[in-house]
Amino acid sequence: MTDDPRRRTPRTDAVLADPAVAAAAVRLGRARVKGIVVEVLDECRTGAVPPQDAVAVVLDRLPAAATTLRRVVNATGVVVHTNLGRAPLSAAAVEAVARAAGATDVEMDLASGRRGPRGTGALAALAAAVPDAGGVHVVNNGAAALALVACALGQTEMGRAREAVIARGELVEIGDGFRIPELLESLGVRLREVGTTNRVRLADYEAALGADTAFVLKVHPSNFRVEGFTSAVSVAELASLGVPLVVDIGSGLLAPHPRLPDEPDAATVLRAGADLVTASGDKLLGGPQCGLLLGEAGLVQRLRRHPFARALRVDKLTLAALEATLTGPVPPVPAALAARPEELLARATRLARQLGGVASAVPSQGRVGGGGAPGVPLPSAALALPAALAAPLRLGDPAVVGHVHDGRLHLDLLTVPEELDEVLVEAVRRVAP
Ligand SMILES: *Cc1c(COP(=O)(O)O)cnc(C)c1O
Repeated sequence: MTDDPRRRTPRTDAVLADPAVAAAAVRLGRARVKGIVVEVLDECRTGAVPPQDAVAVVLDRLPAAATTLRRVVNATGVVVHTNLGRAPLSAAAVEAVARAAGATDVEMDLASGRRGPRGTGALAALAAAVPDAGGVHVVNNGAAALALVACALGQTEMGRAREAVIARGELVEIGDGFRIPELLESLGVRLREVGTTNRVRLADYEAALGADTAFVLKVHPSNFRVEGFTSAVSVAELASLGVPLVVDIGSGLLAPHPRLPDEPDAATVLRAGADLVTASGDKLLGGPQCGLLLGEAGLVQRLRRHPFARALRVDKLTLAALEATLTGPVPPVPAALAARPEELLARATRLARQLGGVASAVPSQGRVGGGGAPGVPLPSAALALPAALAAPLRLGDPAVVGHVHDGRLHLDLLTVPEELDEVLVEAVRRVAP
């Protein structure tokens, strides 16, 4: 009977009083930690866990943080990976988020102690980054930016639906079933489709304009390409039509990018005569999830004052991260776009040497991914490993996600910031035979 594990099982309070467990309770919340302690002590009573190991097992089972979201090293070579949260923030943006997370002066003028306009720092940074925009506004994401345009421009004062004129070839589905035409229609805008799937002319737009026209919408086909017998109408030509021209550029490039010549940017589109530009903040701009609205001052003001704008408002964390993205050091996404393949290969060679025979350095090809530029290869380099390591690497902490290519697991360095090299090597060492 003296060996009955139930007798040697420690009391819940005793385990909770262990210094390491107590510290975890402060960090993760007492209820959460107590739940795990109770679970482990139950297992002690059934004999599944030796009672003397109770504390060690509890500590092992504690989550690393008070979130179920795991840290992931994106070694896929896909720069803007939708399933991995799109753009990773720069260290400066992370610091800005941490600063803003408590009480902060997001809507107070500290000099007077009175209420002030919201998010002035971020909006000023955005205005400075896009001098061609007379006004700027930030909402929750790219879809929200389009939704606000639809609500504010797509109805008469009496709430009667007006028309958005859009080319058939630009009725785009972005991903996960999100279709721009359905978004607009769900908000009461009538779509007036012009042209065919592959071709549209200025005359098609002209013929469609009428008393009910609210705006012309040009959508960048950011995730597919149509090749062959095609034609589209330029922003400059559409701007000559005399109705508000809204251009959804998607990716959030603020200025032309030499490596992505087909990707539209806000400055060029505004200079060509667009009245409003909409874009995402967490694609090629490399910032937090948000939607940018840039353009003619009066129109932007109208959007900002629309009642629906409140439902799309961004929080202080987003404003902080956006400001740091715009004014701070180059964030990971633009840094990856500027990476040089020969340097990546030298890095891969160095890491392969550290890992010994299990890894080799190989040239590879990354891509922009969910952020745009379909079909544009980004020359890169990878560590090639046995494909069997893919699953254990994904399940590690941090998780490492690569991609299998020709029967080998490739960890592409294009999307791994150099400061994570040690982390990557350690992760491989933990699972390599
Ligand atoms: C990504 C994208 C959107 C949607 O933006 P979210 O930030 O995902 O809401 C809209 N239009 C285009 C052209 C896009 O590429």
